[in-house]
Amino acid sequence: MQTALNWLEVEKAHDSGVYNKHDVVIVRGEGARVWDSEGNEYIDCVGGYGVANLGHSNPFVVEAVQRQAATLMVMPQTLPNDKRAEFYAAITGILPPSLRRVFPCNSGTEANEAALKFAMMATGKRKFVAAMRGFSGRTLGAVALSYEPKYREPFGPYGHEVVFIPYNDVEALKNAVDENTAAVFLEPVQGEGGVRPATAEFLQAARQVTSERGCLLVLDEIQTGMGRTGKRWAFEHFGIVPDIITMAKALGGGVPIGCMVMTDAVADKMPKGGHGTTFGGNPLAMAAGVAAIRYLEHTRLWERAAELGPWFMEQLRSLGSPKVREVRGLGLMIGMELKEKSAPYIARLEREHRILTLQAGPTVIRFLPPLVIEKSDLERVVEAVREVLAWDPKAEWVG
Ligand SMILES: *Cc1c(COP(=O)(O)O)cnc(C)c1O
Repeated sequence: MQTALNWLEVEKAHDSGVYNKHDVVIVRGEGARVWDSEGNEYIDCVGGYGVANLGHSNPFVVEAVQRQAATLMVMPQTLPNDKRAEFYAAITGILPPSLRRVFPCNSGTEANEAALKFAMMATGKRKFVAAMRGFSGRTLGAVALSYEPKYREPFGPYGHEVVFIPYNDVEALKNAVDENTAAVFLEPVQGEGGVRPATAEFLQAARQVTSERGCLLVLDEIQTGMGRTGKRWAFEHFGIVPDIITMAKALGGGVPIGCMVMTDAVADKMPKGGHGTTFGGNPLAMAAGVAAIRYLEHTRLWERAAELGPWFMEQLRSLGSPKVREVRGLGLMIGMELKEKSAPYIARLEREHRILTLQAGPTVIRFLPPLVIEKSDLERVVEAVREVLAWDPKAEWVG
């Protein structure tokens, strides 16, 4: 047996180097808590970047995965499978009737790659409109839609043109969509870009202008779906139905999964063999997805997010710290924007309070707790945030 310290050293020694690694080894999770190799317990407001909506190692998902693992794990999509069919029925069952065609894959970025290709085929065009501060993933198709220059610029030029507009700017949106546009890609709440909810006016204008000009509206619900924002899907807040929704993160209850759901009009334009995936739609992930959707429906966890989120935001606001510029969000997707860098405060929350949070841009502390989190845990988070905001990072922070 190696010691915990060794695992940390081994991981750091062989890692690709693209991540800022913390000095802990997390070995176990349950609900909204995780434990490190030394036995320390943490309240987890990272939630696997918004994967763990149903709680870590949700017993209902675990049981379904164990059963399916012992039954059948892999079956390509040319060969129909009971779990895949069950997943298609489950996912389309919690979406508007127009969204009835499903392309299952393995991650968020793959869902957006699929959306790009289906949109190109459906429209015969290859110009896209996306939002400043938007995030669509890291593979070469999707990264062209990801606004952050550090993610995008070193890997261009790209074969598809992307025009970026300011988020929530209706006029800019109307000016950007033209006869060459294949699709507009938007997050209903920008996650990575700082936790910024869309205005209803903006998303409704996006729906209208794309319909009028014969292009598609793609909503990226990879982070906002599965109850996170206080509805099953965030688009339900805005009274619109897109042509394509991309999903991933919490959809498999913790198991890697991605999915793109579209209208008949979009799906019918893609020829046989025009797109595909080996692992996508595998029975193991499908069983996890079915269990996750069943659990979500049974517990109506989005209602919990709708109740706890505004309360938590109000608690954070009422701390009244002069360091806070704004607290914003939707449901349990919450950002606290500071007037200074957030990293030292995030580090102190972890070190001194054993509370895990994440960044969203340089000045935002982002909270993506499992939706099953206890209110008493969120109360502890509020008290810890109060303490760290009262502390002066310049006094000891050496970042
Ligand atoms: C996480 C995320 C992605 C990318 O998903 P991966 O599974 O990391 O590829 C894309 N869009 C949004 C909005 C996300 O939050």
